[in-house]
Amino acid sequence: MMTKIQMTTPLVEMDGDEMTRILWKMIKDELILPYIDLKTEYYDLGLEHRNETNDQVTVDSAEATKKYGVAVKCATITPNAARMTEYSLKEMWKSPNGTIRAILDGTVFRAPILIKGIVPYVKNWTKPITIARHAYGDVYKNTEIKVPGKGKAELVFTAEDGTETRELIHNFEGSGIIQGIHNTKESISSFARACFGYAIDTKQDLWFATKDTISKKYDHTFKDIFQEIFDAEYKEQFEKLGIEYFYTLIDDAVARVIRSEGGFIWACKNYDGDVMSDMVATAYGDLSMMTSVLVSPSGVYEYEAAHGTVQRHYYKHLKGEETSTNSIATIFAWTGALRKRGELDGIQELQDFADKLDRACIRTVEDGKMTKSLSLISTCENPVILNSLDFIRAIRETFETLQD
Ligand code: NAP
Ligand code: MG
Repeated sequence: MMTKIQMTTPLVEMDGDEMTRILWKMIKDELILPYIDLKTEYYDLGLEHRNETNDQVTVDSAEATKKYGVAVKCATITPNAARMTEYSLKEMWKSPNGTIRAILDGTVFRAPILIKGIVPYVKNWTKPITIARHAYGDVYKNTEIKVPGKGKAELVFTAEDGTETRELIHNFEGSGIIQGIHNTKESISSFARACFGYAIDTKQDLWFATKDTISKKYDHTFKDIFQEIFDAEYKEQFEKLGIEYFYTLIDDAVARVIRSEGGFIWACKNYDGDVMSDMVATAYGDLSMMTSVLVSPSGVYEYEAAHGTVQRHYYKHLKGEETSTNSIATIFAWTGALRKRGELDGIQELQDFADKLDRACIRTVEDGKMTKSLSLISTCENPVILNSLDFIRAIRETFETLQD
């Protein structure tokens, strides 16, 4: 019996809901605990426990992440009206991801896991494209008015001393619509620092694009803040690593992204990131193969899968039916967190373990053993379709045969 890998600092472990909660335990039992003397500080973010603690557990888990620096999170239910009844909730608790993001002030980076046999719809994308989405403001915190008829719309800013700045939006001759949006220098600066830091961390070029030719103050401010921070704080490190910061217009960026081979980070404003991340995920194959990490400007990391709790599979599981749920993105959340913990604590075995487990996941699918949804998009001739647990066991078998 080999000795287990030792850890020095605990990971913050955020358990979650439904099918991903079932996978969570399987992954720990089959792939983590046999090899690592796992140290975690456990927070149960399952909806029942969030309800019992009036959602305090979510806040506590985010605070613990600030303290220790690395967290791994299972998918969680964001309650809606149906969940209020299903779980007899005291309140419609907010999205845990939103709460955690607000506390850590982070930016979310999403990247696809590439596997031979799962061919992106864009043929020349041979390397992953990571989307960095700004998660504050713009149209997600807007104020809107439905204009009923003739009248004047103005934009007014009142300074603390009462001074007003006014701009005419439009003289309406008939009915129409108006929208007011904002962002803050602080939030844009945090976003920029998270992007530059992550580019350095992963040694990839950073692209950023807005519509600054049309939006000469709003979008142009994003462009200026990125450039100022880059020149003052990151330029030298980028040069040393041989990576590039590149700004262009959003339309030009879209054309270049499609023609590219991938292998860079694409920083997007809030709305662009929402739309483009779904486009990129779909073009690479499927949402169940997207990893996601929240990075704060202070260097705190929270890893998770990009998909949700896979509710439909969970109901089948509850009825005793077999499920074939893909656990790869959740395994990559664990390996991402363990690797980062290993880097921060200088534990090489932990980093090697994470790399090897990632390779085992990829090799298993490349060998033709996969879950149902993967078999539908794979070019593999005769895939062996496995149930949720057997797939994880197949990954373990591959892991055992891999050379270090
Ligand atoms: P979802 O859980 O991502 O699942 C949507 C569908 O995608 C599934 O029904 C399944 O399709 C397929 N799918 C997703 N992940 C899969 C996997 N690992 N393996 C196989 N198939 C997979 O999204 P949802 O149904 O919209 O949301 C369910 C719950 O998750 C909601 O309560 C939502 O609030 C929550 N959610 C949480 C997070 C998070 O914590 N980060 C993110 C998104 C959603 P088939 O059913 O066709 O097989
Ligand atoms: Mg979206």
